[in-house]
Amino acid sequence: MENVNVEMSWDLVGTDNGGAKKDKKYLKLGQGTTKIRIIDAAPAVRWTHWIQEANNGRGSSVNCPGGNNECPLCADISAKKTLPKEQRSKYSSRKMHCLNVYNYETNQVELLDEGVKIFNSIKMLMVEMGDVRDYNIKIMKQGQGLGNVTYQVIPEFPPAPLTPEIQALVGNPDNLMDVQMHCKPNSIEQINQLMQGKSFKDIFTEQNNEASVPTEQVDQTDPGVTTQPYTPQF
Ligand SMILES: [Zn+2]
Repeated sequence: MENVNVEMSWDLVGTDNGGAKKDKKYLKLGQGTTKIRIIDAAPAVRWTHWIQEANNGRGSSVNCPGGNNECPLCADISAKKTLPKEQRSKYSSRKMHCLNVYNYETNQVELLDEGVKIFNSIKMLMVEMGDVRDYNIKIMKQGQGLGNVTYQVIPEFPPAPLTPEIQALVGNPDNLMDVQMHCKPNSIEQINQLMQGKSFKDIFTEQNNEASVPTEQVDQTDPGVTTQPYTPQF
């Protein structure tokens, strides 16, 4: 057998060569219990919309740019708010919160990106038990299908420090996801294009083709971001 010296590693499989960008790892809550430790002091909060037409009808989620009803989706929702149910906007808004957590099952840092159900419960823990970073939390998911899922958020007692191994892992900024970047609003122009059926990939491909002068580097994995102050809040 020939002895070929090849670096054996899964690390590079599926990653974009040369891209320094980390892949986002989302915490997927399955049925049953997921044990986590919250790492960030507070979640980043944003409003999202789902655009059914985007991506050739496959749909895409966007971060609401907010503003004085400049968001075309918010404007549509607001304009049709008082109409009979069947004539109301097909769009809706969802408040989302995200922060970095350590997942004991996968042994890695992941992004907990969820709505009010889970985050209101986490906030209650904070009120009752103090800093949510000081103890492990179990999230119990039960039920399936829209409207049938319930979550229970349970603190592990007594609070205990992280092991040195986990502490080292979560203490390394390289292992954390950029929640501010994740929550940055999309632009009106991007939303308009998505409403016309385009995908983020289309939009960025066109942008890159038009750009004769290299400007700011476009982040392909986290499209459509403009700057907005980060306002963590519970
Ligand atoms: Zn909006």
